[in-house]
Amino acid sequence: MAYSLWNDQIVEEGSIAVSPEDRGYQFGDGIYEVIKVYNGNMFTAQEHIDRFYASAEKIRLVIPYTKDVLHKLLHELIEKNNLETGHVYFQITRGTTSRNHIFPDASVPAVLTGNVKTGERSYENFEKGVKATLVEDIRWLRCDIKSLNLLGAIMAKQEASEKGCYEAILHRGDIVTECSSANVYGIKDGKLYTHPANNFILNGITRQVILKCAEEINLPVIEEPMTKADLLTMSEIIVSSVSSEVTPVIDVDGNKIGAGVPGEWTRKLQQAFEAKLPLSINAE
Ligand code: PLP
Repeated sequence: MAYSLWNDQIVEEGSIAVSPEDRGYQFGDGIYEVIKVYNGNMFTAQEHIDRFYASAEKIRLVIPYTKDVLHKLLHELIEKNNLETGHVYFQITRGTTSRNHIFPDASVPAVLTGNVKTGERSYENFEKGVKATLVEDIRWLRCDIKSLNLLGAIMAKQEASEKGCYEAILHRGDIVTECSSANVYGIKDGKLYTHPANNFILNGITRQVILKCAEEINLPVIEEPMTKADLLTMSEIIVSSVSSEVTPVIDVDGNKIGAGVPGEWTRKLQQAFEAKLPLSINAE
């Protein structure tokens, strides 16, 4: 039997009934998080929970539970579902009221839901690398918020998928921002380039781990916007997210990146990243 998170309770999945007037359903008025689980252990749970509260604050949504309560609920959800490797997804919306753009009264409770998914790590992608395509970034100007509104991301990812690509690398005009559901980096002449963490990108939790890994392996990080032309001259490109981890990109729109195989720095970053994962049972 599968269990879900329903506000501050863990309940049988089938017992949840979300109202058609939930503001998440009607407006995408809410935020979410995804935490990777390795052998039953959440990775960087506190960072994800902190970002969840930060996103909520940015849209003036009050989460009626403490961070500790949420952490415990997620733990319980993983245990109840006997999840080994996969992820836990959770979201909160501004509650259920008669449809109106204006925020509901403070007495209307937010709606918190969550569930888990089993899924193996994408070893083949990590090993061989993937293809990507450049797509215009049509999303809103607050990409730092992990909003439930994902139409811009979905349209881009669908375009990538239809072109046989793993990811859409987004650009606003000439400037590369991030991917539809990942951050993007270029490596050239012993330096790692990535967009600064401002309103144009989501500051990935994996990104923050990768920047620490880069420091550990003496790979200087330049957080500056790069152009599409800059990107194509990089000798290595990687994309990162909870599920992509450190995934090499070996081809962008038919342009071979470097030698067309994952490069040396990418391999070093992957090793440094792997060393941080809570892979042993009960490591958390
Ligand atoms: N950027 C976008 C637009 C995303 O949707 C995601 C993850 O879903 C990321 C970056 C990577 O964030 P994280 O490393 O926290 O998964």
